[in-house]
Amino acid sequence: VRIEVLCTGDELLSGATADTNSPYFMDGLLAQGERVSRATIVGDDRDAIARVFGEACARADVVLVCGGLGPTSDDVTVEALAQAMGVPLVEHAATLARLRARFERVGRTFSDNNARQARVPQGAQVVQNPVGTAPMLVLTLGGCTAFVVPGVPDEYRLLVQDEVLPRIAAVGSASGTRNVVRVRLLRTIGLPESHLDAKVRDIARAHPEVGFAFRTVAPENQLKLWVCAPSAEAAERLLEQVAAQCAAALGPHLFGQGEAASLPQVVLTGLEARGHTLAVAESCTGGCLAEALTALPGASKVFWGGVIPYEARLKTAWLKVPAALIDAQGAVSAPVARAMAQAVRASAGSDWGLSTTGYAGPGGGDAREPVGAVYIGLCGPSGTSHERHVFHGDRERVRRFAAFAALDALRRHLG
Ligand code: ATP
Repeated sequence: VRIEVLCTGDELLSGATADTNSPYFMDGLLAQGERVSRATIVGDDRDAIARVFGEACARADVVLVCGGLGPTSDDVTVEALAQAMGVPLVEHAATLARLRARFERVGRTFSDNNARQARVPQGAQVVQNPVGTAPMLVLTLGGCTAFVVPGVPDEYRLLVQDEVLPRIAAVGSASGTRNVVRVRLLRTIGLPESHLDAKVRDIARAHPEVGFAFRTVAPENQLKLWVCAPSAEAAERLLEQVAAQCAAALGPHLFGQGEAASLPQVVLTGLEARGHTLAVAESCTGGCLAEALTALPGASKVFWGGVIPYEARLKTAWLKVPAALIDAQGAVSAPVARAMAQAVRASAGSDWGLSTTGYAGPGGGDAREPVGAVYIGLCGPSGTSHERHVFHGDRERVRRFAAFAALDALRRHLG
């Protein structure tokens, strides 16, 4: 099925609003084995919308139009579509009655402007919108079916999910072109996107029938594999084979597969599988580690708690890190990170102690360490280790990367 998207609205062209509606539709389509071949954005200009709509209908079997269905004079989409179809606007009595009743129910005055939303291109099929005032329209122009939905994201999503996607699935089945799509998300850390690409390039070349898409969700780099096949079994088989090859190429950088396998979740699951527990001592991350872990249901089974000895004196008072060690080595140093991890483990009585100490910036740093330097200490059943990282970027980025690097250190030790 050839499918196009047409979004209307000046706010989408001025940068005031990003088009987040279309990706929602595209995700849903992909799950049905279909893809959009072209997406266009046009401002609130009746002639431009009419022209682009006509062109899209000439190319595609299905066009999804969104936005500009409101009651105000800058909402011109419906007029533009009627113009492209060469038909007049007519009043849709059932929609008008429904709008009047809705206004009455909430005690609002019904105006001529509101009545505009009941005017539809002659011949349109009207689908009621259960959460808003503008109805969805189904139009035909030549051999193309157009679905017209409001731009308000809540209304858009509901109508796309309940009304548009099932209708497109029916078009696909009727034309016998339906395929099954299966997607696998591979999640890596500590590997720049270009390196990730290089590691799997040969596998991608050997499997042109598999889609490879890269995405950064800092500090992760993700690889989405997708296949489109005539049956679910064939799609799964191919995906399994290619994912296994990628996993071998990515080695320990691959920390999980699938939407649910976030790094904090993988760490919690790893601890739980071993019956182990964790306590943390956070300096530069200031609670980010504890936040990432406690955000997950079931964290209390393995995460016992943490301290934030931000000031050097509290590293001594709370964790007994010798003041002389801090003076001699600096608060941002390997010996201090190790001492913090050992102390928090001993004081909590947990299996693991994990610590962070670093310069998040933008100021700070000292003669020994620059802004962005972070030490991670890890103390567990078989001893103590540490890592040094230097992260670039603003304060928020350094703190986030530091927290994830600490979780990743623990994940790799859990094996
Ligand atoms: P309404 O009936 O409420 O007027 P509408 O169909 O006229 O709906 P618009 O006026 O174009 O929709 O947009 C309504 C809201 O939805 C605005 O806040 C707009 O920024 C947002 N919106 C419109 N299109 C998109 C889009 N493609 N992605 C994300 N948000 C959008």
